[in-house]
Amino acid sequence: NTTIQNVLNELGIKEHNACYSTGLKWANTGSRETKKIYSPADGKLIATVDMATKEDYDTVIKTAQEGFKKWRTLPAPQRGEIVRQIGEALRKHKDNLGRLVSYEMGKIHQEGLGEVQEMIDICDFAVGLSRQLHGFTMHSERPKHRMYDQYHPLGVVGIISAFNFPVAVWAWNSMLAATCGDASVWKPSEKTPFTALACQNIITDVLKANDVPEGIFSVIVGDATIGKAMAEDERVPLVSATGSTRMGKSVGAAVGQRLGRSLLELGGNNAIIVTPEADLEMAIRAIIFGSVGTCGQRCTSTRRLILHDSVYDTIKERLVNAYAKLPIGNPLEQGTLVGPLIDKDAVKGFENALTAVQAEGGNLICGGKVLEGEKYASGTYVTPAIVEAKNEYKMVQEETFAPILYLLKYSGEVENAIAMQNDVRQGLSSSIFTKNMLEAEGFLAHWGSDCGIANVNIGTSGAEIGGAFGGEKDTGGGRESGSDAWKVYMRRQTNTINYGTELPLAQGIKFDI
Ligand code: NAD
Repeated sequence: NTTIQNVLNELGIKEHNACYSTGLKWANTGSRETKKIYSPADGKLIATVDMATKEDYDTVIKTAQEGFKKWRTLPAPQRGEIVRQIGEALRKHKDNLGRLVSYEMGKIHQEGLGEVQEMIDICDFAVGLSRQLHGFTMHSERPKHRMYDQYHPLGVVGIISAFNFPVAVWAWNSMLAATCGDASVWKPSEKTPFTALACQNIITDVLKANDVPEGIFSVIVGDATIGKAMAEDERVPLVSATGSTRMGKSVGAAVGQRLGRSLLELGGNNAIIVTPEADLEMAIRAIIFGSVGTCGQRCTSTRRLILHDSVYDTIKERLVNAYAKLPIGNPLEQGTLVGPLIDKDAVKGFENALTAVQAEGGNLICGGKVLEGEKYASGTYVTPAIVEAKNEYKMVQEETFAPILYLLKYSGEVENAIAMQNDVRQGLSSSIFTKNMLEAEGFLAHWGSDCGIANVNIGTSGAEIGGAFGGEKDTGGGRESGSDAWKVYMRRQTNTINYGTELPLAQGIKFDI
């Protein structure tokens, strides 16, 4: 545990921590309600944090509004230069931050490092973007007129994040927002506040060294009441919210009510289709990483396998054998591939889902146990489960945020598998394993997968930041990270300039007096 203590010291986490910072220093919030945070890895107390009040929230937003007025005047490439330095600071702290992600959230160290790498990657992406942020020019129908569109900074961006990607989601949003000239206010998951506090500490020196105004990067630790305040707040033109579909429906409705913008990144129910023409070795590797990686707590985790009846038995047997050998244990120990669930409520959710799906007729073929003993003292370790099921079962239609893999069978053509894959409310990630070009292209065609992410011969999880990330239907429709996702952080303006001496009207309208 001394190592963890060192990590906490290095990242500036104390025994008792304030709940907000507007960039340059932590507020003095000593008299608030507090929350103790325990590690799912060993059940031990990490530290205590104050919980923000509505008044704290108001102070943070006001500061962000003021900061925004100054920040937007800085040329975008200069803002990009500051984001570049933040990327460098993250590189320096990658190992420690990766360890803290692992200890506070429970994903294995390799995945903790991968998450910090995503933050570094988005910084690099944003630096390049800072010299682009381009609009179109259009030819005007009127002589001696020029038309173009340009993108201006939007204002204060609220970021609500989930526990399972406790830091990357913030970087995806805040680094683009900062590059676009916005101020961001981050409300991390109340389950993982310390990784958020650590991020703020890592960037503070960069902010100070560059005289970044107070309020450009703010963090505020609180529960859903702070998230709700953000959703209802007209001072926040964009709310980017990552979490459950239940949360997204509430945030989307509140933001919509005031005609604000929301970027929703919600639950998935992701499937891999395996056709008779698949490379089974590749498929099995992808299925295992997708279904048990992060202990089934990725929004892109593989939850459903849609197997052609000719490969069903082989894959089932291979998976059961592989699941029996999974190294489950402390996520910081080398060799572990499956860490714990986030907390005991998640364990209950896992057990309840398995009971419910069996009551519907599901056949539990392996896993499903809660592990006991000294090594598993936190009470949050489970053995990943495989259940033979039917797509129409109620539990199969829902996202259970735990390692449960449903085996589903299809016969005949790939269209039958695609129909099954699309027949759920969520639309985040999807994949097909096949070496048949007709099947692969069909899966990607407009009548194919209806998800925001559709992969061929790659599993459902593990996206790169260069692409736009997000999904359709109950997944919320938002896109963040790469491609042109930056546009949501800016307001678009169409400009028409007349450099002639006449005033012709559009559509040839005559209006002379
Ligand atoms: P959650 O919905 O319980 O909480 C997420 C965040 O929303 C937290 O910060 C929480 O405080 C806040 N919140 C909760 N209710 C709110 C409300 N009514 N108004 C405003 N804020 C509210 O989710 P979780 O358990 O932390 O995370 C797991 C879920 O997140 C899964 O459904 C997973 O699929 C999803 N997720 C989606 C993506 C994606 O990119 N699509 C990424 C990560 C996680």
